[in-house]
Amino acid sequence: MNRQIIMKSRPVGAPQPHNFELREVPIPELAAGEVRVENHWLSLDPYMRGRMSDAPSYSAPLEVGDVMEGETVGRVQASRDARFAEGEWVVGRGRWQTHSVLEAGQCRKLSPQIPKPSLALGILGMPGVTAYVGLKHIGQPKPGETVVVAAASGAVGAVVGQLARQAGCRVVGIAGTEAKCQYVSETLGFDVCLNHRAPDLARQLKDACPEGIDVYFENVSGPVFEAVFPLLNDFARIPVCGLISFYNATGLPSGPDRTPLLMRAILTKRLTFRGFIVTDFLADWPEALQALEAAFVAGTLQYQEHVLSGLEAAPQGLIDLLEGKNFGKVVVDLKPA
Ligand code: NDP
Repeated sequence: MNRQIIMKSRPVGAPQPHNFELREVPIPELAAGEVRVENHWLSLDPYMRGRMSDAPSYSAPLEVGDVMEGETVGRVQASRDARFAEGEWVVGRGRWQTHSVLEAGQCRKLSPQIPKPSLALGILGMPGVTAYVGLKHIGQPKPGETVVVAAASGAVGAVVGQLARQAGCRVVGIAGTEAKCQYVSETLGFDVCLNHRAPDLARQLKDACPEGIDVYFENVSGPVFEAVFPLLNDFARIPVCGLISFYNATGLPSGPDRTPLLMRAILTKRLTFRGFIVTDFLADWPEALQALEAAFVAGTLQYQEHVLSGLEAAPQGLIDLLEGKNFGKVVVDLKPA
C-alpha cells in the first residue's frame, strides 16, 4: 500500500493539522514511459503554502483531496522507460507519499558524487539552484559591494550569502534567533548576522551596512524589508525570491499607503526589483548543480539539514517552517531506522 498525505481542507491563515489527512491507497500500475519510485526523502518548502491557496499564482493550486505537492528523492522500484533502471536514485515531484509513479521525463538522476541523497532536495537541488540563479542573473554582486540576505540560515539564504562572500562582497545575514545568527556568522562565514526580532533592527542594519546596500536578496519582506529599504543604494538590485512573512496572511497590513515612497525610490535610485521563479532559468540548472556540487564536495559551501522522522511529521513540519521553527533545510526521512 501507498501511504500519502492529502490536503483535506484549505487553510485560512496558518495551516493547522486538521487541514491534512493521512490515507492508504493501492500503489498504481505503471504505464509506458513511467517509473515507480520508493521515496526515501521528502522536501518541505515554503511554496507549499501557496499551493494550498486558491489565490491566483504562477502555478495551479491543489484541489481539496489532492496529495500534497512536494519533491522527493527515492529509488526506482520498477521502470517502463529505458532511461531508468531498478535501484537508481532519482529526484522528482513525488508528492507527500511513500511511493510515486512519475513520468520518466520529469525525473532527474542523482549524481554519483552526491554524498547523501537528501542533499538533492536542498543545496544540490531546487533551493541551491534558486540561490545560484537569483544571485547570478538578478543580484549580479560585484567585489566590494554589500549584499543583505534574510532567512540567512535557511536552504536558499545560506547559499546566497556564501556565494556572495565568494564573489568578494560584504555579506550581512538576517535570521530569527541568536543561535541561527551565530551559525550564519561563524559557520557560514557571513560578515555579520542580525536578529530580525531585535527591536532596533533598523539601526543595527544601518551600522552593519555603512556603505549602504547594493543587493538585497528578498526572501521574507515585511518588517525586514522596511529596515532594508532606506539603505538601498543607487542602482541596487533586489531579486524578489520569496515573501514568507506574508504567506499565512489573510489580508493587507494596516497603515498608510506607502506606494508613493516605494515608487519614488525605484525611480530616483534607479532600483531593479525583479521577481523570479527558479524554473524561469531551466537552462542554468546543469551549470548551477555542477558548481554547487563541486563547491560542496570541496568543502567550500556549508549546509545544515533539519531532519524530521516519518511521513506523519510532514504537516507539523510545514506549519513550523512557516513560523521559522526550522533550523536549516527541512527534509522528512520517510524510512527512519
Ligand atoms: P528556509 O529554510 O529559509 O525557511 C524559512 C525561513 O523563513 C524560516 O526558517 C524563518 O527563518 C524565515 N521566516 C519565516 N517567517 C518569517 C517572518 N515573518 N519574518 C522573517 N523571516 C521569516 O526556507 P527556504 O530557504 O526554502 O525559502 C526561503 C524563501 O525563498 C521563501 O520565501 C521561499 O518561498 C523562497 N523560494 C523561492 C523560490 C523561487 O523560485 N522564487 C524557490 C525556493 C524558495 P528565521 O527564523 O531566520 O526568520
